Amino acid sequence: PLGVAFEDVVFGYGGHLEGRSPAHRGVTFEVPAGGLTAIVGPSGAGKSTVFALLERFYEHDAGTVAVGGRDIRHWPLAELRSAIAYVEQDAPVLAGTLRENLLLAAPDAAEEEVRRAVSRTRLDGLVERLPGGLDAQVGHRGVTLSGGERQRIAIARALLRRPRLLLLDEVTSQLDAVNEEALREVVVELAAETTVLAIAHRLSTVVRADRIVVMEDGRVRAVGLHADLLRSD
Ligand code: ADP
Ligand code: ADP
Repeated sequence: PLGVAFEDVVFGYGGHLEGRSPAHRGVTFEVPAGGLTAIVGPSGAGKSTVFALLERFYEHDAGTVAVGGRDIRHWPLAELRSAIAYVEQDAPVLAGTLRENLLLAAPDAAEEEVRRAVSRTRLDGLVERLPGGLDAQVGHRGVTLSGGERQRIAIARALLRRPRLLLLDEVTSQLDAVNEEALREVVVELAAETTVLAIAHRLSTVVRADRIVVMEDGRVRAVGLHADLLRSD
């Protein structure tokens, strides 16, 4: 797994040239390799921008972003992006078989790996229930899946790329309590093997995190454990 370090990162999307403040106004935090880190804070705080900069969808204007102890400007882009997997909120399931959906970004994954990703994301029940199992048609014109199932498929898809850094963007926010709890268990288990950075909306996700980065207005307001943050407030 790879650690992450932001040091005094400044970044504006461009809108700041018309008077809006930049999305990052000196962001500093450090996350060691492995474990679950929750990033919390109000809408517009700069949470998603952390992910966009990590994947180098945009170049930061000042400061340093390091992944695995190495400045990301010195990582070959393809290598950086293959080390990172990103799961978006409300990730799509495409028309095709469940297997095709899982193998989308890792077509060469072995059957054994597919089975393992399925069991780690608690999709075994779904596979057993579907006529045709992994080869059942899902998505458009196929079997309709619940929000929780779609989200777990997206995580299994990400796992098959064997990420050394997994970025989760509010993956539980659309789910009911039962699905949310199941997904949270999955995420906590994954954090034993890879570094997980999760933008978290609900306090329940935050409670299970190894550390919390609290962002506000383009800055990091606090980093720490849940109990520490509550004490300082
Ligand atoms: P959060 O994830 O905490 O809600 P973001 O990182 O998405 O915050 O956004 C931080 C700031 O950058 C906000 O003011 C937002 O409007 C702006 N922003 C985000 N994405 C873009 C974009 N693609 N283009 C222009 N401005 C953006
Ligand atoms: P909901 O999930 O219904 O929005 P939460 O109680 O989970 O409500 O979170 C409310 C807000 O507080 C969210 O914006 C979240 O990012 C933020 N938040 C959660 N945990 C913390 C924390 N430890 N310190 C500061 N803000 C937090």
